Amino acid sequence: MLNIALFGPPGAGKGTQSEFLIKKYNLTYISTGDLLRKELAAGSPLGEQAREIIASGGLVSDEIIVQIIEKTIAENAQGDGFLFDGFPRTTIQAYILEGLMIKLGTSLTFLIDLQVPENVSVERLVNRGKTSGRSDDNETVIRNRLKEYHEKTLPVLQFYKDKGVRHKVDATASIEEVNRQVLDIVKEEQRKRLFNVVIFGYPGSGRGSQGKALAEHFGLEYVATGRMLEEEIAAGTETGKRIEKLYETGELVPDEIVVPLIEKRLANAKGVRGFIFKGFPRTLVQSYILEGLLRKHDATISRVIEIEVPTLELIRRLDERSKTDRCMPYDSSTAKIVKRLQEHETKTKPVIEKFSQLHEVHKVDGMDTFDNVFQRIADIIEPPVM
Ligand code: AMP
Repeated sequence: MLNIALFGPPGAGKGTQSEFLIKKYNLTYISTGDLLRKELAAGSPLGEQAREIIASGGLVSDEIIVQIIEKTIAENAQGDGFLFDGFPRTTIQAYILEGLMIKLGTSLTFLIDLQVPENVSVERLVNRGKTSGRSDDNETVIRNRLKEYHEKTLPVLQFYKDKGVRHKVDATASIEEVNRQVLDIVKEEQRKRLFNVVIFGYPGSGRGSQGKALAEHFGLEYVATGRMLEEEIAAGTETGKRIEKLYETGELVPDEIVVPLIEKRLANAKGVRGFIFKGFPRTLVQSYILEGLLRKHDATISRVIEIEVPTLELIRRLDERSKTDRCMPYDSSTAKIVKRLQEHETKTKPVIEKFSQLHEVHKVDGMDTFDNVFQRIADIIEPPVM
């Protein structure tokens, strides 16, 4: 998830900057000010409790704030992330936000501190007051809002400075210039996150050889479940023996064997830029597991590729491989080859179908030279430049 907080005094341009960020990154917008105004308009008990305080330019109690945001956060837990505008406004709210994010297995990615001097704030708000219809956009209340900002909200910055996730922007510049600076920050932050690619394709489509080459090219870690399983077999462990038997029949290796191996790879990901997954997820269950495992590392799937090769060509390639020293234990007979193709058809195709609803699945024609197919996929992958 990408979770951003826009910070700054009233009139810094938080609302304006929010608009383009939520569109560009598909974020759920949470403006505590807007939520409170809705409660006021609806005349709800929470709104009634807050009415006087808002009118005077004071800060509404943390107790009320927590109640108005919790529902929106819970309802959008599966989204791409949140954009917080005007929250957190007190140090207590910063702790509350931390707790809410932990509950979703994520955290505040960073905070953007929009800096404007007091006279600019006042001037902007007085101007806004002419058209906003907001009773709190008048000079007396504005002064009070700024006083509250200095006393209660500014200390929140220290909380995020200590965490190393605060970015400053000079918000006296034009809207476009501030946009540009904010965008640079988002891009810089995205480069710090894991970049993960999933490569799909029938056995024989070239997903393995392409995956390996692409991982090397982009400096990503290549995660092939097949290879991990072979290492178990080579080590002669009990698990290895079980895997060997399953390979002989061409069946899928069960998740209780595969998942801990993947989990270990992710846990050892210190200093890693991202992963290329090949041969995982192979089933719907595994796709949920992968999303969950990545989420634990505050990461998601960045690109999904499906290499397409006609069935007859797949059979020809697998048959050819079975006669070379690249022969895998599971492609030593026609029956096993057919079984593997069927497994992909019945178990993995539904995963690709599901992914196409959540992510963009990039289909790549695999009927070409290795280099041409490589180039096609590389053009799609294009991770953020380091
Ligand atoms: P805003 O639209 O963000 O400028 O908020 C308008 C008013 O709503 C503020 O002056 C406060 O009275 C109240 N308010 C909005 N967000 C919060 C918050 N996070 N904590 C306390 N009060 C808030």
